[in-house]
Amino acid sequence: AVEVLGVHKSFGALHVLDGVDLRVRRGEVTVILGPSGSGKSTLLRAINHLEKVDKGLILVDSEPIGYRRKGTRLHELSEREILHQRAKVGFVFQNFNLFPHLTVLENVIEAPRSAQRRRRDDVVAQARSLLAAVGVADKADAYPRQLSGGQQQRVAIARALALNPAVILFDEPTSALDPELVGEVLEAIRALAGQGRTLIIVTHEIGFAREVADSVVFMDAGVIVEHGTPSQVLDHPRHERTRAFLSKVL
Ligand code: ATP
Ligand code: MG
Repeated sequence: AVEVLGVHKSFGALHVLDGVDLRVRRGEVTVILGPSGSGKSTLLRAINHLEKVDKGLILVDSEPIGYRRKGTRLHELSEREILHQRAKVGFVFQNFNLFPHLTVLENVIEAPRSAQRRRRDDVVAQARSLLAAVGVADKADAYPRQLSGGQQQRVAIARALALNPAVILFDEPTSALDPELVGEVLEAIRALAGQGRTLIIVTHEIGFAREVADSVVFMDAGVIVEHGTPSQVLDHPRHERTRAFLSKVL
């Protein structure tokens, strides 16, 4: 489970997360919608400790992000401990972020090797089966530049899965793709949802949200305006800001 508890984050005078509370249960798929600049990426980045929050706490499977419990106190993690903890949360970025100088297979095994220090044989075998699961087994020895955007993004999904994360975060995973490649990536994500993974997905693919999400969150100006089932938020929004946003994206 992911618990975001009273989280605030500012960049200078800009209050980007203004008291965010969000609970995502294990095995649940949550889609986050909201206008540009509303704080969606910052929230995902905070869950993965790519941003340190100013106030509040984030728990992943009851473990405080950025801290270690010592009795009732919380101690800040060292850089090394943060890297180790970060491996418990997978992150799939908008722009794939594959290492250009590594092959597809090397991209997938890099983090399990360096952050989790797992045996090469085991990691390679797992990587091959993950690449097969997302339909790019034949690209294992290719370099990212030799792949289509949709293939690169499916490799990025396999790479996130290789860490056996408790949760996977997706930040607009299809927004950088040509329209005809969007479907294959959504299909790969839909398959993960079917396996009972805990997923938090920022996307404006409303049809996908309706079909795959257990819950939908609408964020605006650093707060969660609405959170409910897809039908509640998408078909019967209670807030004017949600209605105005949906009328633009639907
Ligand atoms: P989009 O839909 O365009 O991706 P978003 O909801 O993901 O938007 P964020 O990326 O979370 O929005 O950004 C929220 C606000 O915080 C924006 O105004 C952005 O300019 C600002 N911001 C984000 N990261 C930083 C940073 N590292 N330094 C300063 N400002 C930042
Ligand atoms: Mg964003």
